[in-house]
Amino acid sequence: MFNLIIFGPPGSGKGTQSIKIAEKYGLIHISTGDIFRNEIRNKTEIGLKVKSITEKGELVPDELLIEILKSVMDKHKETKGFVFDGFPRTIVQAEDLDNLMKEEKSSISLVIALDVHEDELVTRLLNRAKETGRKDDTEEVIQNRLKVYHKQTKPLIEFYEKQNKFELVHGVGSIEDIFNELCEVIDS
Ligand code: ADP
Repeated sequence: MFNLIIFGPPGSGKGTQSIKIAEKYGLIHISTGDIFRNEIRNKTEIGLKVKSITEKGELVPDELLIEILKSVMDKHKETKGFVFDGFPRTIVQAEDLDNLMKEEKSSISLVIALDVHEDELVTRLLNRAKETGRKDDTEEVIQNRLKVYHKQTKPLIEFYEKQNKFELVHGVGSIEDIFNELCEVIDS
């Protein structure tokens, strides 16, 4: 199996690139952000639980994440691999994911981070707010999401560097150029 994590701060373009990668390499795309937005839209039990958390830009509790992951991955036992987008976001989630992978006799193959400077992130997220009306794309919540990223998610860089799985790709430019760079890293 080939299991890829697309890593980066909010607004770095993980979603856009993950979809393209999954399509090109025949992998299953798992976006935890999309999963939660869907649950919220459908007013499910999980949706009701996470609505206020995501609207504040805080992280959903780790226990919930691994439960959801497990059930999604179970549905795709025959896949060639997964592209994880927005997950893991904490060290606990990364450890849970490693354990889950081990149970499936698999592992994370590669982590690619999209490198985008902070001013550009804020600009992109504010623009997205106009297009999608996402409730977590307001100035105040964006600042909190970036804070949460620095505090809880960034430590994962070292976690994956230690495993020699971490690669960085410049995330500013055209979608196609960034995609090509990602493919080069994946193919090498
Ligand atoms: P972003 O555009 O900030 O990367 P996502 O669309 O990936 O955001 O996720 C939206 C929100 O869903 C997050 O701000 C968080 O509240 C919740 N969420 C998504 N993935 C996770 C995760 N792995 N752990 C905890 N919370 C998550």
